[in-house]
Amino acid sequence: MQRELLANPVFAMAAEQFDQVADFLALPDDLRERCKWPKRLISVAVPVKLDDGSTKVFYGHRVQHHLTRGPVKGGLRYHPAVDLGEVAALAMWMNWKCALMDLPYGGGKGGIACDPRAMSLGELERLTRRFTMEILPFIGPEIDVMAPDMGTNEQTMAWITDTYASHTGYLVPSIVTGKPLGMQGSAGRAQATGHGVAFLASNALHKLGLSLTITTAIVQGFGNVGSHTAATLSSYGVKITGISDATGGLWNPGGIDVAALRTYVAQHGTIKDFPGADAIDADALLCMPCDILAPAALDRVITAENAGKLQCRVLAEGANGPTTPDADRILQQRGDIFVIPDILCNAGGVTVSYFEWVQNFQRFQWNEREVITKLETMMQRAFDKVTSYAERNKISQRMAAQSIAIKTVADAKALRGLFP
Ligand code: NAD
Repeated sequence: MQRELLANPVFAMAAEQFDQVADFLALPDDLRERCKWPKRLISVAVPVKLDDGSTKVFYGHRVQHHLTRGPVKGGLRYHPAVDLGEVAALAMWMNWKCALMDLPYGGGKGGIACDPRAMSLGELERLTRRFTMEILPFIGPEIDVMAPDMGTNEQTMAWITDTYASHTGYLVPSIVTGKPLGMQGSAGRAQATGHGVAFLASNALHKLGLSLTITTAIVQGFGNVGSHTAATLSSYGVKITGISDATGGLWNPGGIDVAALRTYVAQHGTIKDFPGADAIDADALLCMPCDILAPAALDRVITAENAGKLQCRVLAEGANGPTTPDADRILQQRGDIFVIPDILCNAGGVTVSYFEWVQNFQRFQWNEREVITKLETMMQRAFDKVTSYAERNKISQRMAAQSIAIKTVADAKALRGLFP
């Protein structure tokens, strides 16, 4: 029954990756089953009063892949294409990401099928509050802690916190992470994922013997992850030659002024018609020459069709699941692209979310320098662990990252034993 509900190409991709790793690790059948399938699938109908007076029912999901190593942790996504299978795949990847980073969490993910860009602030608030209420019995600081993802932001987290507080009768800041600073969010959380992507991409360049100041980067997506990846790379001296968003691409071989583009996007809501670059087809942009290619928007954008045409040295996966298994095989055959797999590359977000949760429990605030220093230490440790495991076992970085993570979860399950 559960398997039929999860029929979805993104879940199939996560499951295929899992099966390859389980074979490599020679996981016994019982542990394989227990690690692969999600513990809880929660789907709810969310009726919302729209501004025109009508009522629309949205469908929301929350998947808790495992609670073996702690509460589940993972984002909440608002996008028209959200469905249960996609959310389950993202929850599975979150599980491996938390284990790889050695955070005391299992993986979760949530989403509501909606188009946030076509909704008013009031409609989004009512949607978020009603969804929170519907899943109230299944969330809590020790059960399931949400965070922003595509289409959601710190305002969404503030509404969830307030709705939860109306239920408990007092403020519980550790119910979500990625909150505004004024509501006990963490310094450094907004830029954490993009900072981590840029930090690891620069690590990879060092490994390849390339100097940051003569390198170029293309970033797909200019939301939370993409904009901070571009800004941090730019601060390192990397020239950003290409950027895209849902409305198209920008190309400037002389370098795009990222700060000016952020100001432009804040005013216009899109990168379209930015005067500091030429327009380019967003898909064609992926295959333009560059040193770092950072897909930081959607899943399955590096495919069997374009993997052979990529002209980058480092593929820094800011998005979750940007590379299909077919594309992965092509990249491995090519052997000339250093892949930083998603569960490692974009782990900065959940790592600083963990810091936020810890600060909330301690009722204490760290400053930005403390947060970024701790983040870089943890990202460096995970990067070194993955690259040395891959070299030692002569496997891809993705296989190495997932093997370390899945073994960590399988070992925890074996240690805890089976109840009853
Ligand atoms: P976001 O909603 O802030 O931004 C998404 C960006 O992608 C927008 O600029 C949008 O215009 C762009 N986009 C959409 N369709 C596109 C297309 N066809 N071509 C080019 N750009 C397109 O989302 P985000 O939080 O930045 O998340 C992006 C990805 O990173 C997702 O896969 C998400 O799961 C992953 N991720 C996010 C975080 C986080 O902390 N926010 C952490 C880890 C992973």
